[in-house]
Amino acid sequence: VVAVRADMDALPVTEETDLSFKSTVKTTYLNKEVGVMHACGHDIHTSVQLGVASVLASMKRSLPGTVKFIFQPAEEGPPPGEEGGADLMLKEGVFANLKPSAIFGLHTHPGLAVGELGLTIGPAMAAVDHFIITIKGKQSHGAYPHKSVDPIIMATEAVDAFQTIRSRSLSPLEPSVVTVGIIRGGERFNIIPEQVHLEGTVRTYNPEVQDMVEHRMNKILEGITLAYGGSFELDYDRGTPATINNPELAKQMIPTMERVVGKNNLKFLDPVMGGEDFAFFANEVPGMYYRLGVLKPGTTSGWVHTPTFRADDSCLEVGIRAMSNLV
Ligand SMILES: [Zn+2]
Ligand SMILES: [Zn+2]
Repeated sequence: VVAVRADMDALPVTEETDLSFKSTVKTTYLNKEVGVMHACGHDIHTSVQLGVASVLASMKRSLPGTVKFIFQPAEEGPPPGEEGGADLMLKEGVFANLKPSAIFGLHTHPGLAVGELGLTIGPAMAAVDHFIITIKGKQSHGAYPHKSVDPIIMATEAVDAFQTIRSRSLSPLEPSVVTVGIIRGGERFNIIPEQVHLEGTVRTYNPEVQDMVEHRMNKILEGITLAYGGSFELDYDRGTPATINNPELAKQMIPTMERVVGKNNLKFLDPVMGGEDFAFFANEVPGMYYRLGVLKPGTTSGWVHTPTFRADDSCLEVGIRAMSNLV
């Protein structure tokens, strides 16, 4: 049994391409009116997989095994407070009967031309953690700072100090990212607020490094809030694990990929700090996740998750041929 997985979800992004079939759908996401766009190319993944299913179905009699097609929702993450994605499919028993001996997945890549494939052997994409911090102080008039415990000062020092986790607590050769993406506090220019909200992401490849980052964040927050007389809450949530392409499987598949696109069109890519919930499947059975070039030569495309991302349809044939041959 071999499994192939395609993710199907779109993103709250308003499409800004000149395609005649561009998305004009609007919806409400987290109480905001947003556009809906396949800005990560998951429509391509789904189309490729349907193509593979029809190719393989047409030669069913000559296939020596079974192919399991997994169409997965919510790769980008379920709405806050809900479960979803690969994790939930596994909990619901997607591998329970007919456990595959290998699983394949592909993803669009706007940095590769149509006709090119990309592969990373071994560690390919990082583990994705999400942290939420509340730093609490004491509110005061902005002109009477001595009556406050200022959470903005504590928050800025914490953001600064977090940068030393990467630069001073971890080996320079250890891949890691600590990013504060949200810092929010205060209602008015002349009020020192009671609290500040920080939120961000940590990307790593090694569970021990994850422990270390969480530990250092706690220590830094403890130290700073103790020094200024405030307090804090840290909610550190471990999300998708790192995506590791099974080295034996990946090496075994190289000749097939080279046969489909030609030796020069198979690109070996460095690991990245982006994440992918295919990792949950690849932690259960040997997995291989590779990249499909989607840039039509002579045109441009924004990166994935941007309004100008554009995956040219001509990549579908390459994707179908590659995946059918791999399976
Ligand atoms: Zn995405
Ligand atoms: Zn994606």
